Amino acid sequence: MNSFDKTSKNNIRGGGIDITTNKALNQQLDPALLRQALALIQPAQRIAVIAHEHPDGDCLGSALGLAHILGQVGKTCVIACADPAPGNLAFMPGIDKLQHTLDNEDYDLVIALDAGELSRFGSLYQKHQAFLERVPILNIDHHLSSSGCGNVNIIDPISAATAELLVLFQQQAKLPLNKDAALCLLTGIITDTSSFQFTNTTARTLEASAVLLRAGAVPETVVQPIYRTRPLAQMRFQSLVISNAQTSCNGRLIWSQATDATLAIAGATPDMDDNFSGLLRDIEGVEVAVFFKSYGDPNITRLSMRSAAPYNAAEICQRIANGGGHARAAGGTLHLPIDAATKLVITELERIMCT
Ligand code: 5GP
Ligand code: MN
Repeated sequence: MNSFDKTSKNNIRGGGIDITTNKALNQQLDPALLRQALALIQPAQRIAVIAHEHPDGDCLGSALGLAHILGQVGKTCVIACADPAPGNLAFMPGIDKLQHTLDNEDYDLVIALDAGELSRFGSLYQKHQAFLERVPILNIDHHLSSSGCGNVNIIDPISAATAELLVLFQQQAKLPLNKDAALCLLTGIITDTSSFQFTNTTARTLEASAVLLRAGAVPETVVQPIYRTRPLAQMRFQSLVISNAQTSCNGRLIWSQATDATLAIAGATPDMDDNFSGLLRDIEGVEVAVFFKSYGDPNITRLSMRSAAPYNAAEICQRIANGGGHARAAGGTLHLPIDAATKLVITELERIMCT
């Protein structure tokens, strides 16, 4: 096995991270793994930092945050994502430079963030498959279901966000942290924890966030555009999805759907459906919530799932919907029309939950 064999299992689950002790933030990563990651970064001059398809605050905040950090040590970083950034992330410094291809593939290193399979990078992977299979990759991610797609994989499912893991990386590697980097990383943590509300929030999440605030990031800059400036069309879209919801298993299971027709009625755009499954999960008595959507191609349905213990959304999405994610929040894609996809998933959930 050579050192660039992406099938070699040099990744670490949990990152060798021990958050049950009082170890400092700069001692959380396995030193050997950190050394391997830095050994990839040090000789690289041009680095492509890539975020997963259908981007969110964490993958884009992490990509921008890391690009701002590495820019300060003389690296040229290009950030890329298959799909456009949601409009409410326009405040992040550098987002205007987001690319949707790896242009002429002129990079010494790719840093793949917030997903652990190359297929999760969507059209970036499809367009640049041969390149991505040959270039050295550093993969940094926090998903339970990730297998690792790099030569070095730092995968820590305990981190609330990939951005939290990048703060540990920055602290332990003693890399500089400026205000722009801090704001982008704070965006990742705030969005993946829904402002520190989700069960993924740990003491370490708050400590990492404190580092970002000390570096100049202001939470209000993140919270105002994301949570307090919602377009009316988004609220109309949300109300349609809630009013069309169906339940089963005495209200423990809830689901709803959206299509191009729903968007048209609300005057909404596809990026306005972020965390709709979370909204459904917050209804009293609900243990599992699923939001199904099919935009553009009527034979492709995406689903977004939220679950309470003991139901493992990542396991269910991985097993029946070609997807994955976290135990409490996951997603997937089915090559089926929306009603057939809904029937397949709900039938399986009813089998698990109602019998
Ligand atoms: P959301 O429901 O908010 O789109 O996604 C919930 C979580 O599951 C996110 O962390 C997201 O990255 C992950 N996720 C969503 N869709 C997929 C998918 O198709 N495959 C995998 N592996 N993870 C997904
Ligand atoms: Mn994330």
